[in-house]
Amino acid sequence: MGFDLFVIPFTAGLAFLLVWFFYKTAVWLYHLSRVDRILLKRGIFSGKTIRSVKEVILESLLHRKIFRTNPLLGYMHMSLAFGWFLLIVAGNVEAMIYRPAAIHPPYYPIFFRFFEPEAAGFPGEKAFEFIMDFLLLFILSGVALALFKRIRSRALGMKKTTRLLWYDRLALYSLWCIFPFRLLAESVTSGIYQTGGVITGSLGNFLSGLIPLQSFEYPAWWAYSLALGLFFVALPFSRYMHIPTEVVLIFLRNYGIRTRNAYSSFSEIEVYSCSRCGICIDPCPMSAAAGIQNIQSVYMIRNIRYHTPDEDVLDNCLMCGRCNIACPVGIITTDLRAIARTEEHFPVNPQRNIAAKPTPHHEVIYFAGCMGQLTPAVTQSMEAIMQQAGEDYFFLDKEESICCGRPLALAGRIAEAKQLMEINRDKILSSGARILVTSCPICYKVFREEYHLPITVMHHTQYLYRLLMQGRIRLRSRNISLAYHDPCELGRGSGIYEEPRQVLKHAGILTPTASEKEKSICCGGSLGNTVLGQKKRREITKYSLENLTINNPDTIVTSCPLCKKTFAQSSDRPVRDIAEVVKSALFRDNDNSRLSENLMIPAEEFLF
Ligand code: SF4
Ligand code: SF4
Repeated sequence: MGFDLFVIPFTAGLAFLLVWFFYKTAVWLYHLSRVDRILLKRGIFSGKTIRSVKEVILESLLHRKIFRTNPLLGYMHMSLAFGWFLLIVAGNVEAMIYRPAAIHPPYYPIFFRFFEPEAAGFPGEKAFEFIMDFLLLFILSGVALALFKRIRSRALGMKKTTRLLWYDRLALYSLWCIFPFRLLAESVTSGIYQTGGVITGSLGNFLSGLIPLQSFEYPAWWAYSLALGLFFVALPFSRYMHIPTEVVLIFLRNYGIRTRNAYSSFSEIEVYSCSRCGICIDPCPMSAAAGIQNIQSVYMIRNIRYHTPDEDVLDNCLMCGRCNIACPVGIITTDLRAIARTEEHFPVNPQRNIAAKPTPHHEVIYFAGCMGQLTPAVTQSMEAIMQQAGEDYFFLDKEESICCGRPLALAGRIAEAKQLMEINRDKILSSGARILVTSCPICYKVFREEYHLPITVMHHTQYLYRLLMQGRIRLRSRNISLAYHDPCELGRGSGIYEEPRQVLKHAGILTPTASEKEKSICCGGSLGNTVLGQKKRREITKYSLENLTINNPDTIVTSCPLCKKTFAQSSDRPVRDIAEVVKSALFRDNDNSRLSENLMIPAEEFLF
């Protein structure tokens, strides 16, 4: 085992990277909140650690999620990450077998062929030659794909890629150089000593006929070491910091740590874990339908990381969460955005929104929500259905509108939102109700996640399904095709996909749409975006409607008053809330028609 000056760039770069990363991780862990530290302590010695190791292998090395959405892109990421990991492991095993020692200097296995050019006669010699060459080829195929992606991203299934900052360029170009330089250095040495595997040996022999190998050998190893050193030094400042940070993220997330209502250590880990892969760009309706290309999560997170806030980027988002579903790292980008918006809020007086009257006692509290107030057909239908079911209910916001607090939180006014929620919570609990039903997916999400209510919280789709299953209401199936739109906050936000579909199957013929469930496209009316103009909103609505009407349904059905209102302004066919559909299909005892699962009523008789 020896030493040579050319190993210095690699060794110094690696030392810098390790010190920087461990320092940064220590700071992140030190600044975790008390609750998060308890979660961390509880999680470390539990099955969650094993789950995390598995996830690191599947996601950080094999890039399973990217594979599922885009196999070519998945292969590119996997060949670089997993291939390099295996190359390091195999190199260390080879060095250890050839020269057994308690520990080798880190450069020794990396530059093994330089220090041991004539290594032979050790167990598995031929196998190692083959494996090392094969892994190098595997990684080089990934580098070639990455290069190709930069030139023609569409060929790899990406309409848009991200623009690179200068430190990203430095890291990227040095990364691209590492493996070709390694191939060159090993081939030159193999050519001189007539050793090497199928690839390095053959290339060495070929080069020996073209160039004086002796004079190229040393510069080639220097170039390899310099590329490695440069990459390690640039990595912490570039997007490639996601490589080590994602591992920390996976462990902490599995321990139950999350970004909550304020920017925390964990939020910063999420920000550093963004690889700027750009996968969140194409699914974004702002990009696909409105042609707005600079506000997507990748740019918002980049601005947070480099402390370059941009109000346009922050505010011009529908908060629909499509990017959350698409993100292979699992970053909840909408939470980061809502927190970043806190910097630009102005105070409001939440008391102003509250009705001071005490809430009478009833079994069920019905809460329409602000948007429900603007769509009386929804609230009237809900009241009719509850009366038909004989429900003991109280319509909490019938007399005056009450805000649940979510719009404030989405706009970044978290302190005011919390204050408002406390007041509403007292009001709901004072009724003694056992069930809270709301027609608004936004209110549903916030009641469930932020209010910590000791009673059952239901969206009206769940409530209607329950009434149906309990036999408290009966429906007449109609000969009408219904296309169901999953509202962002109800579907992606709360995971409610099946109940509305089950209800609609009892009321008509449910037809498939182009982008269903978690792929559903925002209606364009989002309250989360306070700056998007009407023209762009309409483009998004049109795009969403095109996806919904692919099978030419008679009626579009949704379960969010805001979606209903937004679609109704642009749709060429009726748009109804699920409550209206159910009300219209209610079977009453004085109905002459026969109740049957298969009873079909013509579309023209389907009155709302
Ligand atoms: S937010 Fe997720 S999908 Fe978007 S660039 Fe970052 S890692 Fe990729
Ligand atoms: S939340 Fe929706 S609109 Fe906002 S960046 Fe993500 S996909 Fe685009």
